[in-house]
Amino acid sequence: GMTKRRKLIVGNWKLHGSIAGNQQLLQQLRLNLQALDAVDFALCLPYVYLFQGQQLLAGSNILWGSQNVSQYDEGAYTSCISAAMIAEFGCSYVIVGHSERRLLRLDSYDIIATKLLRALASGLTPIYCVGETQQERDAGMAEEVIQQQLLNMLNALDDDALERAKSLNIVVAYEPVWAIGSGQHASPQQAQLMHVLIRQLIATRDHALAQQVRILYGGSLTADNAHDMLSMHDIDGGLLGRSSLDAQAFTKVALIA
Ligand code: PGA
Repeated sequence: GMTKRRKLIVGNWKLHGSIAGNQQLLQQLRLNLQALDAVDFALCLPYVYLFQGQQLLAGSNILWGSQNVSQYDEGAYTSCISAAMIAEFGCSYVIVGHSERRLLRLDSYDIIATKLLRALASGLTPIYCVGETQQERDAGMAEEVIQQQLLNMLNALDDDALERAKSLNIVVAYEPVWAIGSGQHASPQQAQLMHVLIRQLIATRDHALAQQVRILYGGSLTADNAHDMLSMHDIDGGLLGRSSLDAQAFTKVALIA
């Protein structure tokens, strides 16, 4: 296909932030990125800062989202935050199935599938995370694991949900677990191979979606490796943890994209 996909750079703050620090960071990023109109940007914030993010980012070219969503809609579920609540704060994106939740066994395959559907039903674009552990890679299982995780996504989508996924432009993030926070990013070739596999798997279900879907790379992505990573054909952007906590670091990656 000849589809040209706009690059997407997403920050994942994880468990970081403070009201004062966020204000500085968001105002600086708003200023730094305002002229960059060929790339899409988003920041995934802790729930408690969504209101602040909405106040400080509205009207800018930076969208925002959450890092998780409840599998429940409403009811007696103490501490849970629903997709509808997240949507009320102007969120565009929600990260679904990040490995830091999968590895803590907070998100099973079934829960991730339900969260995916909750997000789509509330008009939020899921950023569906996949990625193998070092142990799985060493055992020669990396491709099989990615395939399982992708099939979990595709099997969860009935025809209606698939249409919503297309119109909301669902995002997939390939984040090898061994690369996250380790300073050891995947090689551009390793990532490119995996991104092609992901796109091929999606194509078995829907060709148009496979061409349109943006597949982000995540795992120790920095200004030093962003050029090599983001110039690969099937790497459509990045999901940045550490590099999203510092305005200068995020801006450098944004300028490279
Ligand atoms: P990192 O995190 O950039 O700090 O490696 C990426 C992620 O977990 O999304």
